Amino acid sequence: MPKIKLVGYLCCRCGHKWIPRNLKEKPKVCPKCKSPYWDVPKKKR
Ligand SMILES: [Zn+2]
Repeated sequence: MPKIKLVGYLCCRCGHKWIPRNLKEKPKVCPKCKSPYWDVPKKKR
């Protein structure tokens, strides 16, 4: 039985997970916190 891969995105800022309608396009902002940097982890320094 093939496994169904879970698809979705995880916001690095607020931790919100969601499944986009269009998987081919990366969402520009997190739907929850509206951050355009949802996929960018905080910088280490
Ligand atoms: Zn977010």
